[in-house]
Amino acid sequence: MKIAASKERLMTAQKTENGASETPSVSDTQPGGSGPQSGNEIQEQPEGLKGVEAIRHALRTMPYAPGVYRMLGARGEVLYVGKALSLRKRVTSYTHVARLPERLRRMVSETVTMEIVTTHTEAEALLLEANYIKRMKPRFNILLRDDKSYPWLMLTDEHPFPQIAKHRGKAVKGASLWGPFASAWAVNQTLNLIQRVFLLRSCTDAVFNSRSRPCLLYQIKRCSAPCVDRIAPQDYALLVEQARDFLSGKDGAA
Ligand code: SF4
Repeated sequence: MKIAASKERLMTAQKTENGASETPSVSDTQPGGSGPQSGNEIQEQPEGLKGVEAIRHALRTMPYAPGVYRMLGARGEVLYVGKALSLRKRVTSYTHVARLPERLRRMVSETVTMEIVTTHTEAEALLLEANYIKRMKPRFNILLRDDKSYPWLMLTDEHPFPQIAKHRGKAVKGASLWGPFASAWAVNQTLNLIQRVFLLRSCTDAVFNSRSRPCLLYQIKRCSAPCVDRIAPQDYALLVEQARDFLSGKDGAA
């Protein structure tokens, strides 16, 4: 799958030489293109907005489309990168500070402006998010990674028919982990997506070994039912390889 971010909307607060605040500027670009195409919108950005107020300001022009958002600090550094099925809904959740974990509250308090990239699908957003995190190493994504209480996505390595599942806590021998995700909701969304696209099993080995018929996940097209040989081992292995590439942010993986 090619990343086909349809529009890049950059909303940055930039200081002019005389100290006046201009923007956020909203510019449309194509991937690989040379810059703004057309239809630039300029908005007044009140100077000195920070935290929830800065996020509320960015929300004014934020679409409900899928995409990736970036929180930026006072020096323009990327604090955090996240993806969303609906950018506006997801980013709105950061304005309900009382419901956020302590780390995310700190991140919100340091946010001065936001950048977003809209995508055609949530799958594209997931891939783009992984690429940004790898490239930009945002501080709050890394803090989350070091916190064992946040959920991860786990793919077992040693079983002939690997399992994809949520995981919290220490690294597991014989399994690959991706994450961390900011919430159980975020990891569940991604797990559902992986199941829909790659049809990998999510049941435990004990359940897998005890089945004589596929479970409901096969009926609703979320699993290829390797438990009862509805898929050849080499075909399942190919799906695992594609899912691995996709989660690792390799272009062309889905
Ligand atoms: S269909 Fe079989 S392999 Fe797939 S989740 Fe259900 S029990 Fe597991």
